[in-house]
Amino acid sequence: AARAADATLRGDMTTDCAAAAPCSLLDFTLAELEREFLGSGLSPVHARSLWRALHHDLKSELAGEADFLPPLRRWLAGHLGDGRRFFIEAPVEAADTASADGLTRKFLLRLADGQTIETVVMGFKGRHTACLSTQVGCAMGCVFCATGQMGFVRHLRPGEIVAQVRHAQLALRTAGHAGLRNLVLMGMGEPLHNYDAVMTALETISDRRGLNLGPSRITISTVGVVPGILRLVAEQRPYHLAVSLHGATEEERSALVPASRRWPLAELMAACRTYFAQTGRRIFFEWTLIAGANDTPTQAERLATLIAGLDAHVNLIPLNPTGGFAGTATPSAAAKTFQKTLQTAGIPSTIRQRRGIDVAAGCGQLRSDKL
Ligand code: SAH
Ligand code: SF4
Repeated sequence: AARAADATLRGDMTTDCAAAAPCSLLDFTLAELEREFLGSGLSPVHARSLWRALHHDLKSELAGEADFLPPLRRWLAGHLGDGRRFFIEAPVEAADTASADGLTRKFLLRLADGQTIETVVMGFKGRHTACLSTQVGCAMGCVFCATGQMGFVRHLRPGEIVAQVRHAQLALRTAGHAGLRNLVLMGMGEPLHNYDAVMTALETISDRRGLNLGPSRITISTVGVVPGILRLVAEQRPYHLAVSLHGATEEERSALVPASRRWPLAELMAACRTYFAQTGRRIFFEWTLIAGANDTPTQAERLATLIAGLDAHVNLIPLNPTGGFAGTATPSAAAKTFQKTLQTAGIPSTIRQRRGIDVAAGCGQLRSDKL
């Protein structure tokens, strides 16, 4: 896992379509598409009109596009489709399940190579948030996580991340809802282990001329990939940050989160303090509540001490049971005591509803059921 993380953190991925394999048009940011088009003798005007059709109008069929200028139509006829150089990502919906309370909808999407990922849409008072996957599987191995139990399969390309937002947006539109308000990168995979693809996708997703989900509506959740957090700061990426802690001492955290041995808690907290000092933004800390493992008042006090001085908000998530882990969720009374202890120490927190648990909506669980 650690070696795989190293390779990606070097960050040698950009969207270039020199390879023999066909290339997804959804992999390109607008700037990249303009550059690609210049090489083909097309102008930025053509790039913008194609990009708008894809990311604003959410088209996936472009053949009969009357708005396109003739040079762009000619280019598409020669470059897009079976056996040609470009294609448009359109994952197949392999499952669409709704929770009994109707608040959560979970899509299992089949990618071009047959791999499946999940995208969850949660609605509350007419406002919808999509939870996106960033990898097939995950290399980080958190013991309670269904995706971790699956191991690492591969990274998602930018287009495969963008396609999840398109899918959610189109599903909401079909159901007569307003579009997405927020995005969280909390589905399958570790976003900062797939840094470049995630940043490319977020650039496209947050562009006003396209899907227009601005950076203040986007939260990246990380297990604590320290170099990734520092890179977000150095590159002045405008997104919100959530850090999965689950333990407030190195020993307790490492038992649940093996990645903590590689990026120790002390280094992680130093990175969080750098993030806060440079951005002034609130940091969300996630804490999966597991009975007898990390749910005592003493452990809540240690957590409060650990994050003191930051603008912090703690999300307490009672464990969703998974096949590969014997633990159980903290009972609700103990969860409330934990929250009270944090509150006394001046730390705000929310106990997250286990929404959609009847459709196994915990991280990575739908896919595990279908395997
Ligand atoms: N890899 C990233 C984002 C995906 S996981 C991360 O770890 O932050 C999103 C959140 O769901 C994390 O806080 C993770 O710890 C939590 N989670 C995973 N499996 C869970 C389970 N079975 N029950 C409750 N929370 C879980
Ligand atoms: Fe990966 Fe996040 Fe699951 Fe840990 S909790 S295994 S980092 S997806």
